[in-house]
Amino acid sequence: MTKKSILLSEPVAEKVNTRSVSCDGGAKHGSANGHPKVFMDMGQADSVDCKYCGKRFAFKR
Ligand SMILES: [Zn+2]
Repeated sequence: MTKKSILLSEPVAEKVNTRSVSCDGGAKHGSANGHPKVFMDMGQADSVDCKYCGKRFAFKR
């Protein structure tokens, strides 16, 4: 039997050209995932997930 983790939504990474990103969960679009705007830094990594809505940001080389 295969066990799959259930995700609320597909983790679609948004390509960004900076390692410092901000996310508000699409609050300005009236999204249900909206949350206070937060800033994140990837540090040495090439991607970061928003801890509020789980949105992934991937650094575009
Ligand atoms: Zn978010």
